[in-house]
Amino acid sequence: MLTIGLILPDVLGTYGDDGNALVLRQRARMRGIDTEIKPIKLGEAVPESLDVYCVGGGEDTAQVLASEHLRKDGGLIRAANAGRPILGICAGLQVLGTSFRASEGIVEGVGLIDATTVSLEKRAIGEVQSSPTGAGITAALDQPLTGFENHMGATILGPDASPLGRVTRGVGNTDALGASESPEQVGVEGVVQGNVICTYMHGPALARNPQLADLLLAQAMGTTLAELEPLDIEVVAQLRKERTR
Ligand code: GLN
Repeated sequence: MLTIGLILPDVLGTYGDDGNALVLRQRARMRGIDTEIKPIKLGEAVPESLDVYCVGGGEDTAQVLASEHLRKDGGLIRAANAGRPILGICAGLQVLGTSFRASEGIVEGVGLIDATTVSLEKRAIGEVQSSPTGAGITAALDQPLTGFENHMGATILGPDASPLGRVTRGVGNTDALGASESPEQVGVEGVVQGNVICTYMHGPALARNPQLADLLLAQAMGTTLAELEPLDIEVVAQLRKERTR
């Protein structure tokens, strides 16, 4: 049985990112793998031995609650330390970083990725597309990554983190204001650090990026992307054709 942890859907479930867990489950089931989603709500302990974890987007106040709970509970941190694959989307990315800005000031993050989030000059809303940079476990990705970004946060990566992609459309992690002390950070999207992959792509990201979904599944199953049986799904191909340019 493959288990997918859906982390805090009650506070980080505003943007339909729980669809990422559904995509993982469906792609696994289509390959004949018995798979279940385990939703873990605010206040509940995060089991550390699930096969893969999805952390979604949310509003600023919800992020503060999520960060406090995940730090105090420690289950997701132990899962990351054990090399379990984790996907973080938008607010999920910010919460998994070292700190982020909220209305109450700078808030401590869970610290799974070397990334801090300040503020953009203006909210980034619209299609975002990038080419995978091939960092770490994402080395096998070669298809353009596409999604829809909607954030005010500007994320700056530290030396332990690498970007997921180079932006070809949209804003990505930061604009020039957010990166005023590190201009080289403009034009990149997402974060890869160990087995943690984070992105600003909503969509949900895995519906629009089946290769990324299969990479996470492969990690969850302890195999490689190349070894997964390919799936030919016409509606996914159609969606990518509409959204990739
Ligand atoms: N509240 C965060 C921001 O605006 C994240 C929003 C989101 O998850 N879409 O940056």
